[in-house]
Amino acid sequence: MTTVALKDVTKVFQDGTVAVDTINLDVNDGEFMVLLGPSGCGKSTVLRMVAGLEDPSTGAVMLDGEVANDLPPRERRIAMVFQDFALYPHMTVGDNIGFPLRLAGVEPGPRGERIHDVAGALGIGDVLGRKPSQLSGGQRQRVAMGRAIVRRPGLFLMDEPLSNLDSGLRAELRAEISGLTRELGVTTIYVTHDQAEALTMADRVAIMRKGVLQDVGTPTQVYGRPATLYVAAFLGSPRMNLLEASVYVHLDRYVALNLGEQALYLPWDDIRSRAVAHYHGERIVVGMRAEALTPVAPDAPGHVLQGRIRYLEHHGHESLAFLDIGATAIVVDEMGSSVENAAPGQRGLRRFGQVVQRFAGRSVESP
Ligand code: ATP
Repeated sequence: MTTVALKDVTKVFQDGTVAVDTINLDVNDGEFMVLLGPSGCGKSTVLRMVAGLEDPSTGAVMLDGEVANDLPPRERRIAMVFQDFALYPHMTVGDNIGFPLRLAGVEPGPRGERIHDVAGALGIGDVLGRKPSQLSGGQRQRVAMGRAIVRRPGLFLMDEPLSNLDSGLRAELRAEISGLTRELGVTTIYVTHDQAEALTMADRVAIMRKGVLQDVGTPTQVYGRPATLYVAAFLGSPRMNLLEASVYVHLDRYVALNLGEQALYLPWDDIRSRAVAHYHGERIVVGMRAEALTPVAPDAPGHVLQGRIRYLEHHGHESLAFLDIGATAIVVDEMGSSVENAAPGQRGLRRFGQVVQRFAGRSVESP
């Protein structure tokens, strides 16, 4: 079993760079935790502190409930896989995978068995005799994985392990990696700046920005109820529509969100009314996903949001319409054929009632 806990962990480098700022994070036993954030936000530094390759400036890194700040890397039962995994070019695949076992003094017999088991699990059992130069990129990455898991670590640390591979292979390997770690039940911390990777692989995602942890939750939670405006804007493609609105509560009737020339109306019995009612008289930011906005006919009954289509973007499985609603631009998932022939400049109309299917949870906040 391995659990990881970061308690108020800060890392300030010698040149004064604050790479990690007072992070608190718990990783449960067997959990697949993804650290997600843009380049330079401190993800790798967190990983390196868990590995023992970097000392925290303040705070504690705890492994299995014990403070591990002074524990050398080799005593942490961890295996790391990096983006630039270096295989030994003169050794065969089998020897590369078995190398950590040889270092640990495991006899050739049991070593060979373990190599075969691991290579079989990774689907590279038939290339054990080859040299790394005779492998594809995906096979090389599997060898690196094999070398990492061969000693049955308690904790996997992976730093952008797929970023040097082409997109087809990345998708294939991300399913394999998350499947394999779950099968082995090994606690994993996986660093990436790729949100598709994060949302598809993670049990939970921790989103960082400039050294600060912004949000932690399951992929559904961080996507559907982002904790901060930053996370709301960062996660999801297309970007969540974020509209500034002033709130006006008509008690027992509805809540109006004034967007300037137009308004959105929430029925009073709508659960989302409660979420914004206490901002009466204030300006807030309202988050709406493109897929939560429903196209309706121009003359549909009820409150209809008027929009002018600027352009359409076809993605095969979906079409996105970029619209102006007054001074604000929004994006809508057209889902289907009703507006397929709509041309830029034509008026598209969106009804509210179905339009705002969710607010961005606590990201409904004053700008
Ligand atoms: P990337 O995805 O680009 O690897 P990251 O989120 O992993 O980025 P880190 O590598 O953890 O980010 O770096 C966080 C910040 O700390 C960056 O501003 C980086 O320049 C800085 N940094 C990293 N290592 C050092 C160092 N040894 N000395 C000074 N600053 C450093």
